[in-house]
Amino acid sequence: MDKTDFLLSLDYELFFGKNPGSVEHCMIKPTQELVKVLDKFNAKVSLFVDVGFLVKLKEYAPRYPELATQYQQIQTQLLTLSQQGHDIQLHIHPHWFDSRYDQHGWKIDTTRYRLHDFSQQEIAMIVKSYKEELQLFSHKEVFAFRAGGWCIQPFDKIKQALQENSIWLDSTVFNAGHSDDPSRYFNFQKMPHEAHWFFSGDPLQEDNKGFFTELPISSFKTSPLFFWKLAFRKKFASQQFKPFGDGQAMIAHGNYYIERLTKTTHGPVMIDGAKAGQLQSAFKQHLKANNKHSVFNVMGHPKSLSLFSLKKLQQFLENNKNLNFITFQDLKELKNNRI
Ligand SMILES: [Zn+2]
Repeated sequence: MDKTDFLLSLDYELFFGKNPGSVEHCMIKPTQELVKVLDKFNAKVSLFVDVGFLVKLKEYAPRYPELATQYQQIQTQLLTLSQQGHDIQLHIHPHWFDSRYDQHGWKIDTTRYRLHDFSQQEIAMIVKSYKEELQLFSHKEVFAFRAGGWCIQPFDKIKQALQENSIWLDSTVFNAGHSDDPSRYFNFQKMPHEAHWFFSGDPLQEDNKGFFTELPISSFKTSPLFFWKLAFRKKFASQQFKPFGDGQAMIAHGNYYIERLTKTTHGPVMIDGAKAGQLQSAFKQHLKANNKHSVFNVMGHPKSLSLFSLKKLQQFLENNKNLNFITFQDLKELKNNRI
């Protein structure tokens, strides 16, 4: 029987609300718990690391020993994972550039949330310095990218900086996804229906001569009922559903909630929290809608994992013996396979 490529791509980061949470509970511990499950199946994780945070830790480390310790803990964890065959890739939340630390903790400033909110010169500097920094956390090459908050459009503005730093693979878009929030805008409603494709100026526009490759995140159609159940479950949250992460998320635009409670919406397939309960049906949808070469690319965040999501992931891996576990490192031949 044909195997389906399975890629687990998690955004490794703190929260961006008033209280960003701790490195221990948002990053180190949940990643350890996840890897314990993956090890049973010899499966690997690809981590999109929020490098802006690492750059800030390094900047403040000489003045704040607690931040020097956090930097060390993260570096030890990521280098160990890289050694074990897990993958480390580039995730950019550029608001760290404007955020500050003092004895009271982090002052997160998300006024400039998207990379696009910065000047061309700043974008070039951010991408170059972030990639160089991240390379210190991996034994392998960093070449894949996921935009913070899925804000990758218009791609034109960030294209040159990525290309100059040999970032040639993107994994940000998911079928039919969109956000109308002006500060966090994205729209993936006209996406090519292929396992992956090449592009040059726009990730939604296929170009076989393009420098970039898009590997979309798998997408799942969710009915409003799921979000209603979720809303009730949050009210009676049990330990099982409590996320490992101890920070606060940014508050979403009001429409975000209204839309999800009233219409069928498309979202990325995730192992975060209760969404992990949809893994099996999302996989079924994926096999039906895609050709057999397409990668089942499931995203998530260590900070949003819970005991429930790990249990569901384990069940999923036990029930599907026809999965071929890959990381972005296994996709390197795509770069040269031009038609
Ligand atoms: Zn992120």
